[in-house]
Amino acid sequence: SRKPVIAGNWKMNLTHLEGIQLVQNLAYHLDSTDFDKADVAVIPPFTSLRSIQTLIEGDRLDLTLGAQSCHHETSGAYTGEISPTMLSALGCSWVIAGHSERRTLFGETDEVVNAKVKAIIAAEMTPILCVGETLEQREAGEAEAVIRGQVTGSLAGVSAEQVADLVIAYEPIWAIGTGRTALPSDADGGCATVRATVAELHGTETAEAVRIQYGGSVKPGNVAELMSQPNIDGALVGGASLNADDFAVIARFH
Ligand code: 13P
Repeated sequence: SRKPVIAGNWKMNLTHLEGIQLVQNLAYHLDSTDFDKADVAVIPPFTSLRSIQTLIEGDRLDLTLGAQSCHHETSGAYTGEISPTMLSALGCSWVIAGHSERRTLFGETDEVVNAKVKAIIAAEMTPILCVGETLEQREAGEAEAVIRGQVTGSLAGVSAEQVADLVIAYEPIWAIGTGRTALPSDADGGCATVRATVAELHGTETAEAVRIQYGGSVKPGNVAELMSQPNIDGALVGGASLNADDFAVIARFH
């Protein structure tokens, strides 16, 4: 059975001092039984990674650390960019690839996302690959085709074994930061489309192994019902991950 992954994507929020405080509060709320039940990750901005890594290591916390993006090259003349090697050296276990905000605001195509996914795997971290349709695409009946296209394009040349180990987040864009959470059945449907696409690409065994998160206005009040859906193996949480009490409730999802 698939171990759930609950991840807090802080986006461009919190200084490193605020970040430390949030993680300390979170550590106070969560105990080992919570971590037995789910992988719980914090995904702060780059500027907080070192401080939080030190805190996690020093206090032997079971929280795992991730980054929100990276460049696909290992090093070189790419002013302002951060490489997977650097993130791996900082103790990151996860890196988000292809978040919708990166795709829409920073022009990341499936091809770019694909290069990042491969680079993250090569640096021995786990990509959290994000896919999801816009409201316009959903209303035009194109949601399924969009999801299939993004999964296929972003995973080109990635082996079945590698796909089995990664995390894919279905995040319908209309549900992100809007307070308009997808109905549990629609959220599960999107995750089911992701799983079916993986099955077509790499077979049912790989599809049964890959962990698929739902993201988009996940809150303490809706997480239990979302997590009870058959194809939802976790949550990628934005706004509610900035509050330790809320994120702790979400991490326990009951
Ligand atoms: P919200 O939880 O704020 O809707 O954000 C979801 C998200 O984009 C997580 O990556």
